[in-house]
Amino acid sequence: MIGVATSPAYRDVASEFFELFKTAWESYRSGEEYDAVICCGVNPPDVRANLVIVYSADELNFDHQHQLHVRRQNSGDAASYRGWFLPVYTGLASIENGHDPIQAKTRFSLAREVGVGRQFFVRVGYDLFSEVRHLLCTGQPVQFANVPSIEIHISILRDLLVEYQIAFDEVPPAPVGYNFIVCLTHDVDHFAIRNHKWDHTILGFLYRASLGSLVELLQGRKSPRQVARNWLAVLSLPLVYLGIVPDFWSKLERYLELDAASTFFIIPKKGEAGLTPTGECHSRRAARYDVSQLQKSIDEILARRGEVAVHGIDAWRDTREAKKEREQIQALTKSSEVGVRMHWLFFDSESARKLDEAGFFYDSTFGYNETVGYRAGTTQAFRPFGTKCLLELPLHIMDTALFYPSHLHLSPEQATIRVDAMVNDMRQFGGVLMVNWHDRSIAPERLWDDFYTRLVEKLEAAGAWFCTANQAAAWFRRRRQVTFETSKTEMVTAPSHCKHDLPGLRIRSYPSASGSRISASKLGSAGSSHVLPKDAGEVATVI
Ligand SMILES: [Zn+2]
Repeated sequence: MIGVATSPAYRDVASEFFELFKTAWESYRSGEEYDAVICCGVNPPDVRANLVIVYSADELNFDHQHQLHVRRQNSGDAASYRGWFLPVYTGLASIENGHDPIQAKTRFSLAREVGVGRQFFVRVGYDLFSEVRHLLCTGQPVQFANVPSIEIHISILRDLLVEYQIAFDEVPPAPVGYNFIVCLTHDVDHFAIRNHKWDHTILGFLYRASLGSLVELLQGRKSPRQVARNWLAVLSLPLVYLGIVPDFWSKLERYLELDAASTFFIIPKKGEAGLTPTGECHSRRAARYDVSQLQKSIDEILARRGEVAVHGIDAWRDTREAKKEREQIQALTKSSEVGVRMHWLFFDSESARKLDEAGFFYDSTFGYNETVGYRAGTTQAFRPFGTKCLLELPLHIMDTALFYPSHLHLSPEQATIRVDAMVNDMRQFGGVLMVNWHDRSIAPERLWDDFYTRLVEKLEAAGAWFCTANQAAAWFRRRRQVTFETSKTEMVTAPSHCKHDLPGLRIRSYPSASGSRISASKLGSAGSSHVLPKDAGEVATVI
């Protein structure tokens, strides 16, 4: 068992961290014997454990006692570990003297080992829980968006436990049979071009589809075939308004053909722009469609394996409005579990709590408008502090962030490199990749359909489980319900009753040096356990 010594102010962070690194732990109790103790903000005397990991960027009494030199690094400094670049936001120190147990390839030492009798102490030069709190609450700046920082923190801790032959069980964030989860989601901002008549949207479309397309052809961002498609779309516009040809922006059914488990975020109220975080009202933010116009598409989505969720206008700032927006969509879907993502990604430090109070099952707003990556530093779903039920599924890849001239403005080739790196992260760390491809992005004039189709194929080849955001939230909820009971042998239990049809959870066991450890799984009514072949020293059990 791992004991965690931390101050009361960090208990909630410790709890959340050990939902992401799902392993057995308890709050440190004086006099108790542990396999390993993690000290973060508190350094109890006379700890009884083979391994004690001491996290802090500040100089401690411990450092004086063991002749360690703590050299504080400049703010904005970063560490590197196993080839990963790791930004540290709340203080970083170099720890000198002693042996480097985790071989951080860096110009200074991230951690040092001190042997005292039969005990090993590892001193790490940052505060783990203060980093995790910063990442989950404030998030990373755009320049470090590509770093899954929390997953790297987990890897460092896991490697230390393995290095010192501490026995532990872990439930990794990947379902049985898959390397990771993917949710293909679609913010429905427009639904139909015929809803727009001589407004900024239609004028922008006419310019970008005609002259803009030619410019993109010269820049190598569009092919001659795509330019022809755009010109044809412009010419067909009068026929779309007359209802003679189908509306080329109504693409929800096409998304279902590409992945039936798509999630569609629909704006519940027509013509309401809501307020910006600075209290202004941008009329352009208002939707021109009415949900009643989508009823046929909604029925189709629900008849397949798809999901309909709220694309929030005021839900992020007002609990009552959030409730209303939830109820409006719920009246159409009849689903008891409703998720939300804000239009324009509006969000503040109180939003998660308000959405939780309003009864949302999950939110998927925490991401970037201007880039792709890991704003919260994690590939996983997490529970925002101050909420009771809501899970956050952070948004990772958004089409407009990749291709808009005002954002990354990448060519398809550049965007492929960026996205491939994230798919590799997912294969390595597990988690749930949240992709947002807007409703009209596979239609003229954007024509980002070829890129999207290739992305779906790539994710399939990478071993992703494709599911709705609601199913992903349910899978992470089930993982959070796993409990570890410690007696002579360790018991791992997971809830067996689940209304969602979800792939299983996996237990990965790291045995101690003697190999005496036995990991047993206590199964619910779901069935028997299976032992899967794994890397040397690891046994995986399915629950
Ligand atoms: Zn939107």
